[in-house]
Amino acid sequence: MKPPRANRYRTAWAGELRPEHVGDKLRVAGWVHRRRDHGGLIFIDVRDRSGLLQLVFHPDRAPEAHAAAHALRGEDVLSAGGELVRREEGSVNPALATGEVELTVSDLTVLADAETPPFQVDEDGAVDESLRLRHRYLDLRRAPMHRALELRHTVAQAMRAHLNERDFLEIETPMLTRSTPEGARDYLVPSRLQRGSWYALPQSPQLFKQLLMVGGCERYYQIVRCFRDEDLRADRQPEFTQLDIELSFVDEEDVIGLCDGLLEAVLGAVGVDIELPLERLAYDDVLLRYGTDRPDRRLGMEIAELGDLLAGTEFGVFAGALASGGVVRGFRAEGDFPRRRLDELTEQAKALGAGGLVWAQVEAGGGWRSPVAKFLTPEHMSAVAARLGAAEGDVLLIVADAAPTAARVLGELRLAVAAPPESGHDLFWVVDFPMFERNEADGRWGALHHPFTAPTGDLDGDPGAWRSRAYDIVMDGLEIGGGSIRINHPEVQRRVFGALGMPEAEATERFGFLLDALRYGAPPHGGIAFGLDRLVALLAGSDSIREVIAFPKTASGSDPLTGAPAPVDQAQLTELGLALRQPRA
Ligand code: ASP
Repeated sequence: MKPPRANRYRTAWAGELRPEHVGDKLRVAGWVHRRRDHGGLIFIDVRDRSGLLQLVFHPDRAPEAHAAAHALRGEDVLSAGGELVRREEGSVNPALATGEVELTVSDLTVLADAETPPFQVDEDGAVDESLRLRHRYLDLRRAPMHRALELRHTVAQAMRAHLNERDFLEIETPMLTRSTPEGARDYLVPSRLQRGSWYALPQSPQLFKQLLMVGGCERYYQIVRCFRDEDLRADRQPEFTQLDIELSFVDEEDVIGLCDGLLEAVLGAVGVDIELPLERLAYDDVLLRYGTDRPDRRLGMEIAELGDLLAGTEFGVFAGALASGGVVRGFRAEGDFPRRRLDELTEQAKALGAGGLVWAQVEAGGGWRSPVAKFLTPEHMSAVAARLGAAEGDVLLIVADAAPTAARVLGELRLAVAAPPESGHDLFWVVDFPMFERNEADGRWGALHHPFTAPTGDLDGDPGAWRSRAYDIVMDGLEIGGGSIRINHPEVQRRVFGALGMPEAEATERFGFLLDALRYGAPPHGGIAFGLDRLVALLAGSDSIREVIAFPKTASGSDPLTGAPAPVDQAQLTELGLALRQPRA
C-alpha cells in the first residue's frame, strides 16, 4: 500500500514496516490483534488492513502507555506512536512480514473499546458461517476476507482499465424496470403511486444495453447487479454482479476476440497467464465428449460414441438402444473401482434416469471382465477398449440410452469418479448452440440463451433445427460468461417470440418498446456478460461465491446481519395498497 497521509492517528501502515524503517519515529493505528502480558513487558500485535506489527510497551520507559496497554483487550482500537527498532535476535518472527522489527511505544491512545467478539478474529480457523455473516464486520477484519476483496477489486479495475482503453463507455441502467427475461423469476417492487403496478428488478441489463446500441452508444460496459429469484441451488445468490458488455457493428469474432484480450489482461493482473486464442468448441461436440456444456477438461476421461463399433451386436441393451435411435457411449474411468463402488455408480446412473450402467474391466488382449461380457464378441470388446484408450486393468463405464440421457448420466458419472484437478486453469469457448431447447415440463420451446439472441438456419423450418449466434465461456467446469450477437430486425424478433409460443399481443405488451426501437434503425450488435462473483471465487480458490462478496446472503436467501427479508408495518402495506392473503410463514 502507498504510505498513508499522515494525521493524528497514523503516519505509517503497520504491515508495511521493514528493517529499512528502523530508527523512524512513527505512529500506527488499528485493532488489538493479540496481546501478551509478561508482567514486565507487554507485547501487542496491532492489525490494520496492511497486516500486523508488534508493539512493545516498557514499564519504565513509558509508564503511562504501559499502564494503558495493560487494560487493552482483543479488538480494542488504538493509535500508538514510538520508534521502530530491530527485534532482538531470537525473537525475529519469520512468519510475519514485519517480523524483523517492532515499535517501542512511547504513547498510546485508546480510540474505542471492543466487547469480546463472538468468534476469534485473530485466527483464520473455521467459524460457523451464519455466525460469520451475522457479524460480517468482524469477519471482514480477517486476512482471508481482505485478500478476497483485494482480489475482487484488482479484477474489477483490470476490467475497467482494459475496456476504458478501448473506447467503451461505462453507462448505468435502471434497477426499477420491467421484466428482463433470463429464465428466472423476477423480484417485484410495488409502485405506491400507481397502485397495482409493479417494477421488476432486472435479471440483467440485456434490453437496456441493446437500446444503448440503438441509441448509437457503440461500446458500453457496466459492472452491474442482477437479480434472479431462483430456487436456491448451491452457491447462487439472489443478487449477483456481472461485467456487462455490448458493442455495435460486430460479429462473433469481434466479441470473442475482445474477450480473449480482456481475460488475458484480467487474469494477468492476478498472476494467471493464459494462451490466446482460447479454444472454441462446438456445443454438440462438447456435449458428446463431456456430457455437459460446461466441462472441466482438466479431469480428462472424455466420453466417446461407441454405437458404430457395436453395429450388429446381439446384446439386447446395446442393440435395443441403437435400434430405437439412441446411443451407446462410454469413457475410461480413472481410479480404483472395487465391486461395491461399481454397484454405487450403477445405482447413481439409474437415479439419474438411465436404464442401467454397463461396466467392464479390460483384461489382457482387450477382453472384458464384466457381467455383460458373455453377450459380446471379442471383436466388439476389443474395439470398444481401443476407442476408449483402455489398457489392461482399466475400467470402462458405458451407457446405452437416448442421447440426452446418455450424455447427462455419463457427464455426472465422470464428475463422480474424477479426482480434483491438480493445478492450472482450463478456459475455452463453447459456440454453435441450438437456439431452443424443449422444456421438459410443458413440451414448449425455450431459448437456450435468451430470446434476443440472433438465430441462424431456416427460420421457416422447424425451430428445433435453428441454431444461434451465441457463445459461452467456460472456466474450470463453470460457465463464467455468455453472450451473443443479437436480433436487430423487428420481424425476426417477432418470429422468435412466436416460436416460443408467445402470442403477438403479449409480445407487443411486454416488449413493444424493444420492437419499436428495432424499427428505427438498429445496428448489428452483440455482447456478453461475465459473472464477476464466480470468476473471482475461482481465482481465489474459494468453494463458494459468498467468500468473495462483502455482504452475501445465505443459501436460503436471507441476510443474518440485517435480518432481511423482514416483515413490514401494516401501514407500509396499506400505503402500497397491499394486503397479505395468508399469514406470514
Ligand atoms: N444478458 C445475458 C446474461 O445475463 C448476457 C448477454 O447475452 O450478454 O446472461
